[in-house]
Amino acid sequence: MSTITSQNLIDMFLAIAVAIEGDKDRLSELDGVIGDADHGVTMSIGFSAVRKSLLALDPAEADPASVFNGAAKSFLNAVGASSGPLYATAFMRAGAAVKGKAELDRDAMVEAFQAMAKGIQDRGKAERGDKTMVDAWLPASEAIGEAAANGAALGECLDAAAKAAGEGAEATKAMLAAKGRASRLGERSLGHMDPGAASTALIVRTMADELAKA
Ligand code: ADP
Ligand code: MG
Repeated sequence: MSTITSQNLIDMFLAIAVAIEGDKDRLSELDGVIGDADHGVTMSIGFSAVRKSLLALDPAEADPASVFNGAAKSFLNAVGASSGPLYATAFMRAGAAVKGKAELDRDAMVEAFQAMAKGIQDRGKAERGDKTMVDAWLPASEAIGEAAANGAALGECLDAAAKAAGEGAEATKAMLAAKGRASRLGERSLGHMDPGAASTALIVRTMADELAKA
């Protein structure tokens, strides 16, 4: 992996769509415990729409920003649940972060990643510890930044992010939900993993694995 091309990003989104589809039932089951049991379905609808729109792009013509922007638009149009605007904002911010670049080097990819995490936090206004996807995205964003600051190659940076997202998702089990549907449950949300954090862990792991092939 030296630089990330539009084709690499398209392949990354296609791999995420496959991973989400494969984990759809578990994600909806997690949401069934503390939410309305649709998280696997909403994420699957969203990434199927992303898949369809990116397959229609010509990777030779589309720059990385337009791949992220295409993903943002299709996700937003397809998903009515709270994850719709959150991920749409994430992808839009990533697009803005890489605007004008023909390919992404390590620092550009790290910036795009951190822009996604910040976009989700800005849009949903969740704080760390509220038991949402932010509890996986924020540690992942910090870990990727730290790895880059320590001089790690992009593959290692993404791997550090994936590891932190997984640990962050695991840590949501011990949190009381303060945002989204699960917040209505109070203490009953304790002991269960947040579905949005679980899908984040899967998404970031898939990004790391897929971009490692680039
Ligand atoms: P809905 O709650 O509308 O059914 P989903 O089931 O698709 O939407 O997504 C639920 C997930 O969305 C939660 O598990 C949580 O991680 C995330 N979420 C909800 N509200 C927020 C928020 N304000 N900020 C960040 N994430 C949120
Ligand atoms: Mg739900």
